[in-house]
Amino acid sequence: MTENALRRSDVELFDAADPLAPFRDRFVVADPAVVYLDGNSLGRLPRTTADRLAVVLRDEWGGALVEGWERWIDLPTRVGDLLGAAVLGAAPGQVLVCDSTTVNLYKLVDAALHLLADRRTVVAHRGDFPTDRYVLDGLAGRAGVAIRWVDAVDDVVGALDRDVALVVLSHVDYRTGKRADLAGITAAAHAVGALVLWDLSHAAGAISVGLDTHGVDLAVGCTYKYLNAGPGAPAYLYVSTALQPHLRSPIQGWFGAADQFTMGPAYEPAADIRRFLTGTPNVLGLYAVEEGASLVAEAGVGPIQAKAAALTDLAVVLADAWLEPLGFTVLSPRDARARGAHVSLCHPEAARISVALRRLAKVVPDFRPPDVVRLGFSPLTTRFVDVWDGIDRLRTLVASGAHNGVDLSGQRVR
Ligand SMILES: *Cc1c(COP(=O)(O)O)cnc(C)c1O
Repeated sequence: MTENALRRSDVELFDAADPLAPFRDRFVVADPAVVYLDGNSLGRLPRTTADRLAVVLRDEWGGALVEGWERWIDLPTRVGDLLGAAVLGAAPGQVLVCDSTTVNLYKLVDAALHLLADRRTVVAHRGDFPTDRYVLDGLAGRAGVAIRWVDAVDDVVGALDRDVALVVLSHVDYRTGKRADLAGITAAAHAVGALVLWDLSHAAGAISVGLDTHGVDLAVGCTYKYLNAGPGAPAYLYVSTALQPHLRSPIQGWFGAADQFTMGPAYEPAADIRRFLTGTPNVLGLYAVEEGASLVAEAGVGPIQAKAAALTDLAVVLADAWLEPLGFTVLSPRDARARGAHVSLCHPEAARISVALRRLAKVVPDFRPPDVVRLGFSPLTTRFVDVWDGIDRLRTLVASGAHNGVDLSGQRVR
């Protein structure tokens, strides 16, 4: 990228040449003056979702009432297959949309620890997302299994041996944006007979994943970030076809039973992926996932990944030119192939700066303690001029010192 990228008029040309540019109009943009750089926490609302849910409420719930279950009952597998094909690189029958990421993680970690109960160690990253660390810590404690924490994902391969049952990692690190070597780590774990569970929350809808191609065993992730399915929309889980018969869910709910409506005396797990369902699915949320995933399917993961690389490249160039002199450092990898779709900046006043950006500059980033400002670039909705404007407003704010006047006491900093 050249110095020309520093001029807004040049950046406008990137938008003019962007094949994904028309997708922004498919989403609700309530206030065009706001530069929204937090699609990696909560993606925007697709227009089709608002329309679809209105029809579902009126005709399916309001009209069909309980007969609606005829079409609702298969949503977790139907939308799972769509997500598998469009986003995750998974053949049908391996993905379910259900529950939360936290609950899906619990189910799959517990199942894996039971399958490989003769092994007494799990490997995980000390910097991983809190819920992943907490769930793993709780389950390892109950199972009497040790957690071998690594300080960097690059240390995972060196931490593997034949006592390791499971490796749990995020594909894209929520703090730094660093992408783990999914293919290499999966292969190394398999070489010692261990399983791998990937959390794809910050990867799906931002970069290409390829679960089947890389022989991944297990995966989970949420749908409200780059998949734009809305607050609290159901998450997904992936279990490879080969593993399904060998894993049992710790939650023996009726939706996971072989013959749900026989209502028999004892639980027998379904033969297929449905054994990882729990109870009644979130129907409205599932329709929202279907709409979000359909937009990703239409755009294609290849173009999405290419745009994520270009947006984050631009952010890094601008951060180096404008923000580095103001005391920021770029925490994310400099090679686009080594990161997801967000760029993290370290600054000692990151908390005040994040609040001031929202209040004074109409830019929405987020803050990750102790000193990180995250800028998320959602490829379907973020324009190149949004990157330029967001970072331009950030430099103007910090150069003016206006953030120093922000009082953080008694407020939740996001
Ligand atoms: C966002 C995110 C989650 C969210 O978990 P919930 O159960 O939906 O709250 C989990 N793990 C990672 C890595 C995330 O980025």
